[in-house]
Amino acid sequence: RTRRERTAEQITADDRAHVFHPWAAQDLIAPLAVAGAQGSYFWDHDANRYLDFSSGLVFTNLGYQHPAVVAAVQEQAARLATFAPGFAVEARSQAARLIAERTPGELNRILFTNGGAEAVENAVRLARLHTGRHKVLSAYRSYHGATGTAINLTGDPRRWPSDQGTAGAVRFWAPFPYRSPFHSDSAEQECERALQHLDDTLAFEGPSTIAALILETIPGTAGIMVPPAGYLAGVRELCDRHGIVFILDEVMTGFGRTGAWFAADHFGVVPDLLTFAKGVNSGYVPLGGVAISEEIAATFGRRPYPGGLTYSGHPLACAAAVATIEVMSAQDVVGRARRIGAEVIGPGLRALAERHPSVGEVRGLGAFWAVELVRDRASRDPLVPYNATGTAAAPMARFTSACRERGLWPFVHMNRTHVVPPCTVTEAEVKEGLAVLDEALAVTDAYVV
Ligand code: PLP
Repeated sequence: RTRRERTAEQITADDRAHVFHPWAAQDLIAPLAVAGAQGSYFWDHDANRYLDFSSGLVFTNLGYQHPAVVAAVQEQAARLATFAPGFAVEARSQAARLIAERTPGELNRILFTNGGAEAVENAVRLARLHTGRHKVLSAYRSYHGATGTAINLTGDPRRWPSDQGTAGAVRFWAPFPYRSPFHSDSAEQECERALQHLDDTLAFEGPSTIAALILETIPGTAGIMVPPAGYLAGVRELCDRHGIVFILDEVMTGFGRTGAWFAADHFGVVPDLLTFAKGVNSGYVPLGGVAISEEIAATFGRRPYPGGLTYSGHPLACAAAVATIEVMSAQDVVGRARRIGAEVIGPGLRALAERHPSVGEVRGLGAFWAVELVRDRASRDPLVPYNATGTAAAPMARFTSACRERGLWPFVHMNRTHVVPPCTVTEAEVKEGLAVLDEALAVTDAYVV
């Protein structure tokens, strides 16, 4: 048998013997052998088909095997499969222009990386060198990647085993009306108190020691908490007052996911640096980057930027980005995501919430929704505890199995399931998935006290 004709058993055997999987206890996992994928679906070698409500890891914004993106990668491979970063390459310069034309404000220079964590690493380096300061503020309930600085900035149990405390990281609480760290009882109060808390944190840390403040515009894996109106504008103001570089991490929210090109567009806020990855090319070839303001780029006008990557702006990845952005523009995929969220996913999830006592809250926009599962609606006690094993704990594991048995691949993190299908998902596909969730939520309802 050739490399491409191996059976599911052989593929699985090689995987179990030789692939070391991220975030996993190697002996406790049983990765599904995937045979193929198309649009919103993938399937295994036994012809079991799954509707992918997780978009991989929230990256297939155009779905699987989009013909225009596949063709662009094939054509680029035939023409110029690779080239070193120090040259002007057509696919790279075109991708940079198309991205810069869509980012908010004057974020006109693009530093390319291979993914999101590297984008965060470089954004922090840019901010430190630009300001000459070291500390970086980040939020609890956040995820910024698994490399050294990015994991130290992450406000989530995934940081705990890798916490070096060396990144100059200082964490603060961002707004989360449903589980308010400020004991507020309205969105307005949450916004006001969150900004006061941030102002106090800055004062006690010493604003002149702080290089940057990083926030996910809408936190992703941490729970899709849409910030109250005015919060991000307030953060922008505080950063301006103290000369702090404002970084928005749009690795998960960028490129249509929230029904806008960037989630920042919903709030009319322009950061100094914006990190992206995932949806930039639907994840077909690894790509990420930082969109940089003119002011910060000017710091490195006559002084070399001390950072880089062998594959920065890889032609295959950039060709995939060009095709992805062109398809999204030509077919109004951003508008489609906005409408499917407002007209189908949101109303459908709210209807589920009415029927299922384990649903504490549903929230989101575009193709970006969270369903928060609780033991008790009154106390809001989460269905599983806030720690690294929550996702694998019985209620959530049983919920996941119930979905998979019915042909739905859900995104599950701690006590939440996220509905994050491709931005191209159809109304019929959403309804198919919601019908499965309706049945699977009977499993979590059984844990309600
Ligand atoms: N930032 C955010 C907001 C993310 O959601 C992620 C990944 O999920 C990252 C950064 C890290 O990206 P990567 O896994 O491509 O390094």
